[in-house]
Amino acid sequence: MRKYNGRSQILVTGGAGFLGSHLCDRLIAQGNEVICADNFFTGSKRNIEHLLDHPHFELVRHDVTFPLYVEVDEIYNLACPASPVHYQHDPVQTTKTSVHGAINMLGLAKRTGARIFQASTSEVYGDPDVHPQAERYWGRVNPIGVRSCYDEGKRCAETLFFDYHRQYGVDVRVARIFNTYGPRMHPNDGRVVSNFIVQALRGDPITVYGKGEQTRSFCYVDDLIEGFLRFMRLEEPFPGPVNLGNPAEFTIVALAELVIRLTGSRSKLVHAPLPADDPMQRKPDISVAREKLLWEPTVQLREGLVKTIAYFDELLSSERGKVLKIA
Ligand code: NAD
Ligand code: UDP
Ligand code: UDP
Repeated sequence: MRKYNGRSQILVTGGAGFLGSHLCDRLIAQGNEVICADNFFTGSKRNIEHLLDHPHFELVRHDVTFPLYVEVDEIYNLACPASPVHYQHDPVQTTKTSVHGAINMLGLAKRTGARIFQASTSEVYGDPDVHPQAERYWGRVNPIGVRSCYDEGKRCAETLFFDYHRQYGVDVRVARIFNTYGPRMHPNDGRVVSNFIVQALRGDPITVYGKGEQTRSFCYVDDLIEGFLRFMRLEEPFPGPVNLGNPAEFTIVALAELVIRLTGSRSKLVHAPLPADDPMQRKPDISVAREKLLWEPTVQLREGLVKTIAYFDELLSSERGKVLKIA
């Protein structure tokens, strides 16, 4: 181990993003040295500005599609836009980020002997015909659709992780993350929870795609990060994959109604076309995480939404304040 003063050196790629910034917070609070590498495509300095002066935190502007030479004990590979709007903006770059990014980070792990975590996704199951989804299910993914840059990129990254494990003995940990929400999601990120909350707080119409009968299972960010840490701290060499998510399943209309209730908004629902290849249902089977990591989510949707609404409320009021000051 490459510990200085008993502290592990940990690289977090995508560390200025929504999940990455919460992970950096937890790793710093545990007394580790953290290198956060991010190209700021969807992440923001604001997410980590409270860490910038911390003596054990270092920020590097870096695109993971290029090699990175640092000395580390652990790597968390989170770099990749996660929202459909963002990952479809430059689909070729999305695939490069997943595939070249995985190769570079795995090369780094191989050279340094670091344990490496991959933020994979429930999207590897595509539009599933098995419900709920367990890790043994191989998925139903369109290889040539508009979501493929993300889905197939992440699937290829999983292949690379398992081949570096089998071929070179790299200690890999592959987590399949299901829809997660919480403070520091980007307000224009396009994902359903942030969209609905921002629309409700502004009194704008709530955009339900399709009939809103499709389902998702929403995990609060603190629960998810706890799952990451337990997986990486597991001494048993267990590569996964492990589903991490909250098995409580909601229709999109039910989510919209809950957000309206919790914000006290007068916004009305409007229906917009369902995007291509939008999965109809999604819910994790978390038996493996329960058994191996002794992990399960503890935050109910209502409780997590209240915290997330408070975050966006403050963000939107401070933005309104700025506009007023400039005016
Ligand atoms: P996010 O968009 O907030 O964060 C992604 C971060 O990666 C951003 O800071 C972005 O600037 C950075 N990034 C993108 N391309 C990069 C590149 N080429 N080089 C360096 N940095 C780059 O998204 P998030 O929700 O925090 O997602 C983090 C990871 O978790 C992603 O890999 C995503 O696929 C995965 N994931 C998230 C969810 C979820 O519900 N939040 C679900 C499944 C998987
Ligand atoms: N790499 C990196 N940092 C390192 C070691 C490797 O970014 O510390 C990158 C490098 O670009 C390389 C890739 O990881 O191309 C894969 O490394 P590997 O050793 O598997 O392959 P090779 O170097 O033989 O191409
Ligand atoms: N969705 C919606 N309105 C929005 C944003 C998303 O109805 O403003 C729907 C979307 O069609 C999908 C679900 O909510 O069925 C979750 O979308 P998101 O982009 O958050 O994540 P996904 O699970 O599709 O990657």
